[in-house]
Amino acid sequence: MKIYDVSVPIHEGMHDFPGNQPYTSTRILNMDDGAIANLTSFTMSAHTGTHVDAPLHFVRDGRNMDEMDLSVLIGPAVVYRLDSEERIERGDLEQLNLKGVERVLFKTSNSGLWRNEGFQTQYIYISGEAAQYLVDSGVKLVGIDYLSVQQYDSEDISPHTALLGNEVVLLEGIDLSEVPPGNYQLVALPLKLVGAEGAPARAVLIDE
Ligand SMILES: [Zn+2]
Repeated sequence: MKIYDVSVPIHEGMHDFPGNQPYTSTRILNMDDGAIANLTSFTMSAHTGTHVDAPLHFVRDGRNMDEMDLSVLIGPAVVYRLDSEERIERGDLEQLNLKGVERVLFKTSNSGLWRNEGFQTQYIYISGEAAQYLVDSGVKLVGIDYLSVQQYDSEDISPHTALLGNEVVLLEGIDLSEVPPGNYQLVALPLKLVGAEGAPARAVLIDE
């Protein structure tokens, strides 16, 4: 059994979506300074690094993080390698056999972006039509290897609304660079933030 940790490391200077609270961390107790223990405080956004979006992110009265169905966040998942150059289109997905597949993770050129310095604006996103195709295919969880399913700085929110509006769970900000395409067991457990529309998660793929 091999475990792939597909979560990105959380640290100051990490890729942060512009407008989000950047991650900062402080040792408020430090044993080097004579404290009896080490203790850290930090600031971050609900969408920092690897995280899960709840429907509430784009649906006014949608489900929030403490109401998430954990059975969607744990279970068989398929990693697909897509060579999309700008966005994932419906046509890219029609070539995949999504019948009976509940959790899909898309490995794109995005996974390489994590090695660049700072937030990257030119990442591969999912078109609104492709998002709707995933909904119609019965997919319950969609993972993407950068920080959003929609285009940076775009007014077109249809990738989010199509997916979240149909209770599809989004796992954003994963790094699949070390993961070969194929079948895995996914475990992605976001923090139980009451009333929040997103939460950081540790996500792993288990190759049995
Ligand atoms: Zn998000």
